Amino acid sequence: MSNIAIIGAGPGGLAAALILLNQGHQVTVYEKDARVGGRSKRLSFGEYHFDSGPTFFMYQPILREVFEKANIDFDQHLKMQPLDPLYTLYFKERTLQPSADIQKTKEVFESVYPGAGNDYLKWYQKQTTKFKRVMPILQKPFPNIFHFLRADVLKGAPVLHPFQSVYKYLSKMIHHEDLIHTLSFQAKYLGMASFEAPSVFTILPYLEHMGGLYHIEGGLNQVNETMARLFVEKGGKLHLNSKVESLWIEKNAVKGIVTEHLKQAYDDVVLNADFAYSMLRMTKEKEVKTYNHQKIKSMSYSVSAFMLYIGLDTIFDFDHHNVFFSDSYEGYLKRLMSESNDLTDMSFYMHNPSKIDTTLAPQGHSSLYALVPVPNLDANIDWVKEKDALKKQVYDIILEKTGVDIRPHIQMEQILTPQEWQDDFHVHKGAVFNLTHGFNQMLHLRPQNKFKQLKHLYLVGGGTHPGSGLPTIYQSAIITSNYLKRKKRI
Ligand SMILES: Cc1cc2nc3c(=O)[nH]c(=O)nc-3n(C[C@H](O)[C@H](O)[C@H](O)COP(=O)(O)OP(=O)(O)OC[C@H]3O[C@@H](n4cnc5c(N)ncnc54)[C@H](O)[C@@H]3O)c2cc1C
Repeated sequence: MSNIAIIGAGPGGLAAALILLNQGHQVTVYEKDARVGGRSKRLSFGEYHFDSGPTFFMYQPILREVFEKANIDFDQHLKMQPLDPLYTLYFKERTLQPSADIQKTKEVFESVYPGAGNDYLKWYQKQTTKFKRVMPILQKPFPNIFHFLRADVLKGAPVLHPFQSVYKYLSKMIHHEDLIHTLSFQAKYLGMASFEAPSVFTILPYLEHMGGLYHIEGGLNQVNETMARLFVEKGGKLHLNSKVESLWIEKNAVKGIVTEHLKQAYDDVVLNADFAYSMLRMTKEKEVKTYNHQKIKSMSYSVSAFMLYIGLDTIFDFDHHNVFFSDSYEGYLKRLMSESNDLTDMSFYMHNPSKIDTTLAPQGHSSLYALVPVPNLDANIDWVKEKDALKKQVYDIILEKTGVDIRPHIQMEQILTPQEWQDDFHVHKGAVFNLTHGFNQMLHLRPQNKFKQLKHLYLVGGGTHPGSGLPTIYQSAIITSNYLKRKKRI
């Protein structure tokens, strides 16, 4: 068995750590922060607690598989609560509440135009087929072009429509803008707009409608905290406040890691820290073939997120998940993708977990967060200047759409901009959803889990195959641990 170092205790690193430990490896995790979780860590401001990033937990089976592979009873450690409705969607002229109960959602669709309910059911059926064909492809490594000849890929090809966008695909079967957006806003989970994300990603709303969404008591960050605790209990070594400065590389092979205080040899190294940010700092300019610094800088990166974490002296009756759509949603997406510095008429998401979870704020109070997808640091936006206006816009829209002015109830307020995502979370350009998911950066064209350019280096997390949401991040940990399972050393 191997002596393995994992750089980063984000969801990908922790999932890999637990599985590899159970395989019998010696595993040491180095985490630069005082707390585990990375972009998914718990943020606490006094007695108000927040998920820093992810709040949508979909496709439970993959996390259950991670726990199973780590030989841990999932239900003993995590309390899950299903959400119904899935979310409340605020459009200019209507408010919709889709559900994981497809009959209820059929009625929601039918309320918009006659026949839309049946269009929805047809969409659902098609996605069921697509999902069955696509999942086997994402569950395996995709190291080179010859993998297009695999049986599962050939079987999946007819439903992939690689050059059709999510928006275009949907507009052929759904005939109202609000309903198209209901089944396509999920492209933003990848940091992309629906008119540019490949149509394969209609499986994202399908996963929500088919499997439901869940709240985990204490927030999604609790998955990380639980994994870290179990990892240490089972004998893994977790070093917090331990930043890895560089990879120890000799003759195209990784020999170990270098921190401020030590140079430590390992048989294998798993990199979970943001791929682009780390490779630009942990390797030298041309040390790595293919993914040299120039190549990494030239790749395409997702949008960022402007965050508002708010502690309130009351609990509002807002839904758990809420999406506020711009009056001109298409115009907004186009501005977002073209890195425009025009931040008017923005869409945003609001999370109100305190409605069902009393552990996040003092009694009778609540923790609420707003996430506005904004261009990454490539855009010419002065965040010091812009942040107050954007914050005001968010509060004004909540008031306009719900009739509630939350401002008089604010006890604490914290803002996070793309600049802090880069400076504090070490995310390249603040592009929080990593490399974009166009077909030019997917499958064999995405940095691979077994990193071909450097021996003994493996990747897990959003910057590698299969992609940047939590289900695919957990899948990356499974793929990497499958590679390392076959190794016998020490
Ligand atoms: C605002 C926001 C909302 C999101 N919402 C969702 C959602 O609802 N659903 C969903 O599925 N996904 C969502 N995501 C995307 C994704 O699930 C998360 O970003 C996830 O945390 C990424 O996990 P990761 O393992 O790739 O890396 P990270 O979470 O970035 O973890 C990497 C870890 O490496 C550490 N590290 C970095 N550099 C070093 C170093 N030099 N030495 C040691 N340690 C280091 C970091 O501190 C961090 O702990 C969201 C992301 C953001 C930012």
